[in-house]
Amino acid sequence: MISNHIVVLGAGVSGLTTALLLSRDSSKKITVVAKHMPGDYDIEYCSPWAGASFFPVGKPNTAHGKWERASWPILKQLAEKHPEAGICFQTTLVFSRAEDVNSATGQWFAELVQKDPWYKDLVDNFEEIPADKLDSRIDNGSRFTSVCINTAVYLPWLLGQCSKNGVIFKRATFKHVADAGYAHHSGKKADVVVNCTGLSSKSLGGVQDGTLFPIRGQVVLVRNDPHAMYSVSGCNDGEDEVAYMMARAAGGGTVLGGSYQKNNWDPLPDPNLAIRIMTRAIDLCPELVNKGQGIEGLDVIRHGVGLRPAREDGPRVEKEQVNDLSVVHNYGHGGFGYQASYGCAATAVTLVNEVLKGKERAKM
Ligand code: FAD
Repeated sequence: MISNHIVVLGAGVSGLTTALLLSRDSSKKITVVAKHMPGDYDIEYCSPWAGASFFPVGKPNTAHGKWERASWPILKQLAEKHPEAGICFQTTLVFSRAEDVNSATGQWFAELVQKDPWYKDLVDNFEEIPADKLDSRIDNGSRFTSVCINTAVYLPWLLGQCSKNGVIFKRATFKHVADAGYAHHSGKKADVVVNCTGLSSKSLGGVQDGTLFPIRGQVVLVRNDPHAMYSVSGCNDGEDEVAYMMARAAGGGTVLGGSYQKNNWDPLPDPNLAIRIMTRAIDLCPELVNKGQGIEGLDVIRHGVGLRPAREDGPRVEKEQVNDLSVVHNYGHGGFGYQASYGCAATAVTLVNEVLKGKERAKM
């Protein structure tokens, strides 16, 4: 009998993208099982809280950089040809301040904001902004065309694409990764479980990855439209705070950020931080509100907090045998889970195929 029963554990952007790529092979029988599904908002479910943009932050020639490079053409194609996916093109302005070079946010954005970045030939319309056109507080800046993903549309779209390909979705919570092996909709034991549990892999039995840690991101979603995306390497309100904004596709509002607070698990929006986020946004883009207005000119939809699932050595996309269960891990994508999603998922699919082939060979 062909080995083709796969359980994908997790329905964030990592699990859904992996399930979608796996489901393009119609011989595979796939179940996605998760505690949280598209439509939910929960501190244990990072994906809905993202901006989400393609702001490359991986170093060139690292796995991270390669995963971002591999993801761009697909995100671009979705923006061009599939408006129902909730991804649109946006003019993007990124700014760097020399004083942020050693701060948490400066390190995070080091590749994004550097002069002559590796991604300049990947995205469209890249250009440096001349120094005389920059605010005096900015040391260098660039403009290019990127995409903004409306996560409230895109996650259900991914789910729908998977369903169309025959993927079955189930709700369940597991204490141990091996238990997911018994969750396949056929009733048969899975040949492989793909672990896409994000930050929860820190506590999930059989994984318990101590190198995972949260990077707290607080955002304010508003109805105001800046007609572009903006990002600055830092601000004067603390080295783990930053100013960015992302105008989402299809009426999704504008995400104002944010924060980059390592090892901070607080799930509740901090009202003082929210005021700083909104103030910085207007400083960065005064056109966000009517002339002369301050934060009272912002029309707030919601305040939110998400925990980016960061990992000391970067994402874990690898095979492991847990007891008698074959597991492929795809978790730990920090603040770049969308922009690296297709690259990471493609690597995970290769690993799943290796596992399945190994099982076939063992049966011969
Ligand atoms: P999650 O979305 O957390 O999904 C985990 C899944 O596993 C869920 O379905 C959960 O229910 C399930 N699960 C976990 N444990 C169990 C269990 N024991 N049993 C059953 N199910 C379980 N990325 C970008 O690329 N671009 C951006 O602009 C961007 N902006 C961001 C802004 C903010 C404010 C934040 C917070 C994040 C941002 N990110 C961005 C990062 C991105 O959101 C994450 O990297 C990504 O969402 C991680 O997705 P995931 O699927 O790995 O994890």
